Amino acid sequence: MTEIVVITGVAGFLGSHLARSLVNSGRSVLGIDNFISGRRGNVQELLSRPKFMFVEADVTDTDLRKKLDISKISEIYHLASPASPKFYTKYPLETIAANTLGTQNMLEIARASDAKLLYTSTSEVYGDPLVHPQPEDYRGNVNTFGPRACYDESKRLGEVYCYEYYDKYKVLVRVARIFNTYSAGLRSDDGRVISNFVTQALTGQDLTVYGQGDQTRTFCYVDDTIQALVKMMATKKTAGEILNIGGAEEVTILELAQLVQQLTATASKLKFLALPVDDPVQRRPNITKATKLINWKPQVSLTQGLEKTIACYKKLI
Ligand code: NAD
Ligand code: UDP
Repeated sequence: MTEIVVITGVAGFLGSHLARSLVNSGRSVLGIDNFISGRRGNVQELLSRPKFMFVEADVTDTDLRKKLDISKISEIYHLASPASPKFYTKYPLETIAANTLGTQNMLEIARASDAKLLYTSTSEVYGDPLVHPQPEDYRGNVNTFGPRACYDESKRLGEVYCYEYYDKYKVLVRVARIFNTYSAGLRSDDGRVISNFVTQALTGQDLTVYGQGDQTRTFCYVDDTIQALVKMMATKKTAGEILNIGGAEEVTILELAQLVQQLTATASKLKFLALPVDDPVQRRPNITKATKLINWKPQVSLTQGLEKTIACYKKLI
């Protein structure tokens, strides 16, 4: 019997990349998306592949399981949720629903089909962290009453759902807390920093640095993140576990802007704009647990990843 891998959020940045990777390795993939932040273009090529099926649906739809042949599902990657601040602040209630009701719905499907489920949580569960770098047992510093709360708090509740289904129903969940990931697969109007900076640099616009640019992030190239998710799904060691997945090189946003200027050889200048409310000041994952459990470390340096990203965006723009 063909085993099916379900990917929710398949028309998004990470979902479409993961789907291509699994189909290329011979797996049968059923993708689900409602296109709230994803693009039809991201699944266009996949639709021509015999091993790829697609259902346009919302993960909160409780009739979803009737549309799927649940007896064949062996793995569920639950990625569906807006992820860019631009999109989750535009669709806060939909974001909350995708991560809470949507996660429970997908856990129910996993339970009914005896499938493993990987939930993509986020570094945002640490809010504006006070501990650096952040280990998985750091409990975070999150504002429940602000524009980022719809994302941060719903991801936290999504993790709670995973815990309860693992504890109560023995669904083999694993949670990836993903830190900023990038490639040219990000839509150019996605609003996240690397797609903004590279698009701006290549189109002669000034690079929009929010605040003074002294806030820090690490950036992980998409291939490294996808490899981590696949490894997490493959091993029993991660069942019932949470793993940070993210880059190792911490840079300020100003340093990132200057690096993009240098690598694109652009004449674009920097433009300083207001810092968004609750924008985390400093963020970097402790990835010791991922290294130990799945033997994973990012392989692509920030400069290498930016060079690939810039080369691809050049073709797209
Ligand atoms: P994305 O916005 O590009 O993709 C998300 C996809 O989910 C989109 O195609 C969207 O249309 C779909 N979606 C949203 N709500 C849905 C719903 N209710 N029903 C069906 N489909 C729905 O985002 P991404 O960067 O690919 O992120 C994928 C996942 O990884 C998200 O859960 C996100 O929170 C998590 N994550 C990503 C990053 C990152 O740096 N890319 C970092 C942390 C966490
Ligand atoms: N940022 C910026 N200019 C932009 C977009 C983002 O300076 O055009 C900053 C943003 O304020 C944050 C960092 O870059 O400090 C990363 O932002 P992004 O939206 O990519 O991800 P976040 O880490 O906020 O989820």
